[in-house]
Amino acid sequence: MTCVICKTGTCKPGKTHFSTFVKDAFVVVKNVDALICDNCGEAYYEGPTTEYIQKQVELAYNNTEEVEVMKV
Ligand SMILES: [Zn+2]
Repeated sequence: MTCVICKTGTCKPGKTHFSTFVKDAFVVVKNVDALICDNCGEAYYEGPTTEYIQKQVELAYNNTEEVEVMKV
């Protein structure tokens, strides 16, 4: 698929880190499957991956080994 951000890159399957702020914490979910633009690096997540990310973020406060929580 063609990247909708830069409109020139091609998105290819790969691994990336997903990060987001949750309340007062910065949560990083490592090694997430994504389609990554080879031009600008924009990552696109598919349905099941989005669910996985949401679950991991919810688990962040339980200190699982899959996620890192950095208090800011
Ligand atoms: Zn792009």
